[in-house]
Amino acid sequence: MENNFDTIVATATPIACSAVGIIRISGNRAYDIISTIFSHKIKPKMINYGYIIDNGNKIDEVIVLPFVAPHSYTGEDVIEIQTHGSPAVINTIIELILSKGARMAQRGEFTKRAFLNHRIDLSQAEAVIDIINSKSQKSAQNALSNLEGYLKNKILNLKNNLIELYSKIIASIDFPEDVAEVDTKTIVSICNDKILEINKILDNTKSHDFIRDGFNVCLIGKPNVGKSSLFNTLLNYSRAIVTPIEGTTRDTIKETINLNGYLINFVDTAGIRDKNVADLVEKIGIDNSIEAIKTSNIVLFLFENSINEIDENLLKCAEGKEKIFIQTKYDINKLNISNNAIQISSITGYGIEILKEKIFEIIKSFIPDDMGYTTNKRQQACLINAKLALENVINTSNFTDEPDLYAMDLKSSILALGEITGEVFTDTILDDIFSNFCIGK
Ligand code: GDP
Repeated sequence: MENNFDTIVATATPIACSAVGIIRISGNRAYDIISTIFSHKIKPKMINYGYIIDNGNKIDEVIVLPFVAPHSYTGEDVIEIQTHGSPAVINTIIELILSKGARMAQRGEFTKRAFLNHRIDLSQAEAVIDIINSKSQKSAQNALSNLEGYLKNKILNLKNNLIELYSKIIASIDFPEDVAEVDTKTIVSICNDKILEINKILDNTKSHDFIRDGFNVCLIGKPNVGKSSLFNTLLNYSRAIVTPIEGTTRDTIKETINLNGYLINFVDTAGIRDKNVADLVEKIGIDNSIEAIKTSNIVLFLFENSINEIDENLLKCAEGKEKIFIQTKYDINKLNISNNAIQISSITGYGIEILKEKIFEIIKSFIPDDMGYTTNKRQQACLINAKLALENVINTSNFTDEPDLYAMDLKSSILALGEITGEVFTDTILDDIFSNFCIGK
């Protein structure tokens, strides 16, 4: 692994017409290069105002922010140039910097250097891409807590406890006269505790996936009960076609809104009626609706006046799901409903805010207080390996109490945890992670 890196350059902002464009240079030659193309002498750690000059010609009026190693994003000398956001200007300046000896950065190379220069660990590097890809405030907040070291600290804590246990076992094997043997009961108890902690992180991952990709909320009910109208009202625009003709919605339609920082994927389903009266397309729509119900976190069950046998059958499809009962068309059906239904009118907007509050209340109940989570499949695989190794220790304890047999599995568990934070890594692991980044990050 090379550690005396060359100097790289890339735009940190998209190449598109915008107010400001940011070009970033990182590496040993960053200061040499900027001093040959900037109109003034660069003052480190200061905001420098001036011009980028090529052969005496002014290219753009810019602001230059010079960071000094190791106090920069990459841990190297870094120069950030703020230009006007013209693609032509940005490209010209990058070409000029390349001509002075820098090379184009690869995807994620700035963050990769931050990792290789020990500014951040791998879980934090992965949190950077999570923040960039966040589609909701909550998702970004969780990723930010990992960037600040939340997951890293949790993993380090787990690992340190196991290292302590491992060291005691090894010491008792190497120095049996001086160090007492750790009894099997203690080993099993520590392993069980750590398995519980790992399970908690893995469980939280499921919640985090919903925070990142959205909670699924599907609308079900007989044809014409008002599903598409409510769907449109919740989205605040006419996405689904609304008519008085039964079977108008023939397929599921999914659209996402942001509700108090959480993404909600509303799914409008085809009204499920007797398959015998439905044509082929509608039958497929009905099957898709049943699938949508299965994958939903919350089911909004719509009815108009009363719940009849068709409704009861429909409700069976949603057994075990969190449900909200909704009585529709309140503007024309002012009935008092006893089963805790929320009364709404998509025409007047009556009850819509109460419905949103109810949805939010249920969503909050899905989110654990302690959101230590893994961000991706790689980290989950490492955690599962760490857990399997601990389970091996417990299984082994059932038929032997040879301490060196426990030690092998404990070491595997420690190594698996170390892979999450990047103490153990290969070029392939790094390539996989950083190829998901954009150029310039
Ligand atoms: P879906 O088949 O369940 O999706 O029902 P639609 O949303 O297509 O609505 C069926 C019919 O009921 C349409 O004519 C709508 O205009 C009407 N409708 C829907 N919601 C309301 C409402 O809140 N009040 C009134 N008066 N009519 C509604």
